[in-house]
Amino acid sequence: MGKPTGFKEFPRKPVPYREPMQRLADYGEIFTLPPEDHLKQQGARCMDCGVPFCQSATGCPIDNLIPEWNDLVYRGRWRDALDRLHKTNNFPEFTGRVCPAPCEGACVLGITDPAVTIKNIENAIIDKGFAEGWIKPEPPPSRTGKRVAIVGSGPAGLAAAAQLNKVGHTVTVYERADRIGGLLMYGIPNMKLDKGVVDRRVNLLREEGITFITNADVGNKNSEHFVDPKKLLDENDAFLLCTGATKPNDLPISGRGLGGIHFAMEFLAANTQSLLDSKLSDGKYISAAGKDVIVIGGGDTGTDCIGTSMRHGCKTLANFELLPQPPVNRAPDNPWPQWPRIFRTDYGHQEVSAKFGADPRAYCVMSKEFVSDDNGNVAGIRTVQVEWNKVDGNWKLHEIAGSDKFWPAQLVLLAMGFKGPEQYVSEMLGLEVDPRTNYKAAHGKFTTSIDKVFAAGDCRRGQSLVVWAINEGRGAARAVDTFLMGSSDLAAPGLTLGLAPAGA
Ligand SMILES: Cc1cc2nc3c(=O)[nH]c(=O)nc-3n(C[C@H](O)[C@H](O)[C@H](O)COP(=O)(O)OP(=O)(O)OC[C@H]3O[C@@H](n4cnc5c(N)ncnc54)[C@H](O)[C@@H]3O)c2cc1C
Ligand code: SF4
Repeated sequence: MGKPTGFKEFPRKPVPYREPMQRLADYGEIFTLPPEDHLKQQGARCMDCGVPFCQSATGCPIDNLIPEWNDLVYRGRWRDALDRLHKTNNFPEFTGRVCPAPCEGACVLGITDPAVTIKNIENAIIDKGFAEGWIKPEPPPSRTGKRVAIVGSGPAGLAAAAQLNKVGHTVTVYERADRIGGLLMYGIPNMKLDKGVVDRRVNLLREEGITFITNADVGNKNSEHFVDPKKLLDENDAFLLCTGATKPNDLPISGRGLGGIHFAMEFLAANTQSLLDSKLSDGKYISAAGKDVIVIGGGDTGTDCIGTSMRHGCKTLANFELLPQPPVNRAPDNPWPQWPRIFRTDYGHQEVSAKFGADPRAYCVMSKEFVSDDNGNVAGIRTVQVEWNKVDGNWKLHEIAGSDKFWPAQLVLLAMGFKGPEQYVSEMLGLEVDPRTNYKAAHGKFTTSIDKVFAAGDCRRGQSLVVWAINEGRGAARAVDTFLMGSSDLAAPGLTLGLAPAGA
């Protein structure tokens, strides 16, 4: 433990984001660079708990050795901290930037005081590692002769590839997009995760011996980039599906077919692609410039639509939530160490407040109808206000009479979550799916209904988080390695402390 009295001496000070009005002028990352002393002081707040809830149970899904690296940062032993971090996490530069940090929700200090700034410390360790040139490709010393095909290059596919390559298997990753990274590349926007950060890691993996094939749409017979999954199955000793949960939830109300209503991912993916290809000069994106924009749905996807619309220069921005506003502090039925379901203001909300003077979120709003202009494009949304009451123990919503409202909008973005993976690979292979249409495979085993086919990440567990995708990729790699070799020395989440991962 760094400083026994640290948590009493120093208040929690998260590393600030860049000023909203300044960052709105570009697509650079929102983060600032913290001085080393700041991080040392924040690391000193860690109590090195006998039972570190931060790294187990409801805390970190990949068992990051958090108290160890907090202490090492406090002592200035950054290189050792980096080695500890890489033991459990293949990609700390991704989680350090985008993770909602369940570890902080479970931090023991959080019972009485604000939690340790774990995520900031994680990010600082890995950024320093790259800045100092400590991170080098580490190809395996020898090869096993076993071949593994992975479909999908999001964090689950990348984590599995990294782990399987490390023990000498020959790994090929097939990706239907033109760039590697899954939602790290074409979902989460640049201001939260610069694409140079994704490419830097992918290049390291390439130098370590992993083969990446882009524009390879496995199982999609309608695609010019069709790759036959049965052929991949024949040519490889194991086949791992990491195809993500890419089917968006729709809002099938009157007027849904009007122009100007788009799924969030159509908007976000096109923006990033155009930004990377041409700095937006090719015009191949959906512009929010000068428009009244309404984002329906919250979460990370909704926030990213807000942040992107603001950078385009939208005229107004409103964000509808069907649920009530969460409480400012934990509710009695949401105690520590559970993930706190509280009101949070994310980067996009801050930016709208800074530019337009008010938070964009409107709660308990139900969209009833998209209204057309004279040209078949959306002109606005008619809504009603709802209230939520418990009936026979279940929450039920009721429309409030006379609460109708018209909201002008020329661009509507639907950010209401995802249903599961697209089905063409599973249909072609004859793979069983579960009632939510995810590929059927148990967490920990990752085996599907077909011999030597495994599944991991959002396509198995449903829409989730980057850190859970890494958990699944690492776990699936261990399962595949065991299948190929009879046993495995690969570490996998849940094994560090002998605990089953939460939420599995
Ligand atoms: C807009 C947005 C913002 C988000 N922000 C955050 C955040 O801030 N923090 C966080 O923790 N999580 C966030 N998430 C969730 C997180 O990105 C996902 O949980 C995570 O990326 C899932 O990883 P995955 O590897 O399972 O799948 P994905 O990242 O979805 O990758 C799947 C890949 O498989 C490819 N693929 C699919 N089918 C085929 C096929 N047949 N052939 C070839 N390739 C195929 C896809 O093109 C894709 O590249 C966000 C999600 C979205 C949509
Ligand atoms: S729970 Fe919090 S205080 Fe305890 S070891 Fe983890 S980070 Fe440190």
